[in-house]
Amino acid sequence: MKKILLALTGAMMLFAQSVRAEAVLTVDQLGNGVFALIGQTAGRLYGNFGLNANYGVIDTPEGAILIDSGASSVAARLLDGEARRLTGKPVKWVINTGVQDHRWLGNAYFAAQGAQIIALQRTVTDQARLGQGQIESLARELKEQMDGTLPAPAVQPLTGDMQTLTLGGRTLVLRYFGHAHFAGDAVVWLPQEKILFSGDLIYVDRLLGILPESNAETWLAAYRQAVALQPARIVPGHGRVCDVTQAQRETGDYLAFVVGGVKKFAEDMAGVDAAVAALNDAPAFRHLRNFDDLHRGNVNRAYLRFESAQ
Ligand SMILES: [Zn+2]
Repeated sequence: MKKILLALTGAMMLFAQSVRAEAVLTVDQLGNGVFALIGQTAGRLYGNFGLNANYGVIDTPEGAILIDSGASSVAARLLDGEARRLTGKPVKWVINTGVQDHRWLGNAYFAAQGAQIIALQRTVTDQARLGQGQIESLARELKEQMDGTLPAPAVQPLTGDMQTLTLGGRTLVLRYFGHAHFAGDAVVWLPQEKILFSGDLIYVDRLLGILPESNAETWLAAYRQAVALQPARIVPGHGRVCDVTQAQRETGDYLAFVVGGVKKFAEDMAGVDAAVAALNDAPAFRHLRNFDDLHRGNVNRAYLRFESAQ
């Protein structure tokens, strides 16, 4: 009981401080009722509620569509407020583009408000596998902000790799192109507006992270299929709204550099240390935020996955 009271007090204090989404998310209006909510390129911090990623809000006559639901119930509540402010309507649908914590751990909050959660089966499968561990590891940084956060994948996941959705008169296509940052990562494509919500397939402004769950080689192939849609604007998973040219420079070229590099070293059985040492110098990507923290580990994990696949 005491623990519950403490948790409630913490949550009330949080909102008593009138936390505003504008403090952590920048809105970029893409026209025709489509908004990108751009998070910080820093890590998941207590001060940004774990909202260090990008989200989408789409206005329809029947309610708002939210793309990705945030890292916790607290983060979801901030996104909810932002969606209502931008559209004047409650969130009726939440679409998950991916498996990483900040893409979907706010689902339970929105489901409790009556929103429908939409995701592909392959996304849901990995969310179910990883959710509890994600909550536990986020709680180390986000503390009581994670209280009451439960893993709640879509209850009626969609089959296949491509689903065309008509929501409030809007056409959106949910597509899976391959195992990328996570195995179940997907994108949302607005064919009429030519806007791509790429989820974690595309990072700009900061270096992408090749995690133990990532597959750099199939990520590169998935990236290429996504940009083959020829989007006019891309809302990347991380970084500011961009075009294909910037996405190519900062995601496509980087993945090609890492994949091409480790492939050569793995085929020669040169060893991971030799690969990391040789590929450490990557002047085309040094300017990206987080380069010093992530690049070596990215090469290391890409090499090991390539080697184990041989
Ligand atoms: Zn992410």
